[in-house]
Amino acid sequence: MVRVGIIKERRGNERRVSLVPADIKKLVSKGIEVLVERGSGEGAYFLDGEYEEAGARVLNDAKEVLSNVDILIKVQPPSLEEAKALKEGAIYIGFTRYWENPEYLNVFSERGITAFALEKIPRTTKAQFVDVLSSQATIAGYKAVILAADLSPHLFPMLTTAAGTLKPAKVLVIGVGVAGLQALATAKRLGALTFAYDIRPAAKHDAQSVGAKFLESPVWAEGAGGYARELTEEERRIQHEFLAKHIGNSDVVITTAQVPGKRAPLIITKDMVERMKPGSVIVDIAADNGGNCELTKPGEVVEYNGVKIAGPLNVPSSVPRPASEMFSKNMANFLELIIRDGEIKLDFGEEILEKSLLIKQGVKNE
Ligand code: NAD
Repeated sequence: MVRVGIIKERRGNERRVSLVPADIKKLVSKGIEVLVERGSGEGAYFLDGEYEEAGARVLNDAKEVLSNVDILIKVQPPSLEEAKALKEGAIYIGFTRYWENPEYLNVFSERGITAFALEKIPRTTKAQFVDVLSSQATIAGYKAVILAADLSPHLFPMLTTAAGTLKPAKVLVIGVGVAGLQALATAKRLGALTFAYDIRPAAKHDAQSVGAKFLESPVWAEGAGGYARELTEEERRIQHEFLAKHIGNSDVVITTAQVPGKRAPLIITKDMVERMKPGSVIVDIAADNGGNCELTKPGEVVEYNGVKIAGPLNVPSSVPRPASEMFSKNMANFLELIIRDGEIKLDFGEEILEKSLLIKQGVKNE
């Protein structure tokens, strides 16, 4: 019988859990045994009793889980101790931050682990059912707007009342990937006038489809795999000139721009912030990778010339219930790719497995 396990997330105030009881129930009904460390779901308000009712075995100690499972599913990368305790030859599925070359990956190699890195899942329509980058970015985009609305001294909608008419807030979203699109849709639902900016041509249509006005600059920079590429010095200069006045006209700016494997691009410079009206707000959800604004302090809200700049970290974890539910659904789907008829069958020719494979039985996949 295949054994799948989850343990408490101990890094970076993580509140999400990698599998929720509803999905575990389905796994158990397919003959999979699930081991859960006690308290794994606490941060997202999933109780041990619910895991037991779903058919999981709840164990007191992470080591008991780690040493007994064939497949470990995690949100955050494991610690060195956790990696050392994982059963030899087991399969790891989770975020890895592999580009930082963390030490635990050497332990995985020594122990013959097969590891799938969720950061490497292809960003195609076909892979959406396992794409945690997309599901978690959706949550982050929504929450960024809620944070911005809370920090802003304005209301978002236009209101016509006996006490006068209020103008709608102008919200500019920079970076219209999955998070940015959800931010635009959420701000629109709150009644804001929405504006969008990106350097991938496909983003224009996407932004317009959720009712935003697309700010079209002369800079287009599509990279590989549907991602953006890093801008050249000259392109950055043109972008700066183009964006400065739009940023100055916005009540709220939400930034989500990322380039894979690199520090997040610096887009909003100090002089641009100086052009903003006091009371304006920037929510920079690229803060986990250094941020898109020169004044962002990751993990803090700072104020400069009356402009509030928030750099929230690990935003999906701050909405832990739906974030865990979506993550868990993606992971239950991933398991269907590797467990067939009650047995682990790894077809490395399958595109998603091929692309996300980081280590195969201890050997790093270059
Ligand atoms: P991301 O988090 O890598 O980046 C967010 C956005 O920032 C992107 O739209 C990017 O173009 C933009 N950006 C980067 N540098 C910028 C700069 N200097 N100035 C302005 N904008 C900048 O993006 P993501 O949400 O992870 O999406 C990555 C790709 O995957 C996109 O092409 C997206 O359409 C694609 N995707 C496709 C599907 C699908 O179903 N086919 C699903 C999810 C994502």
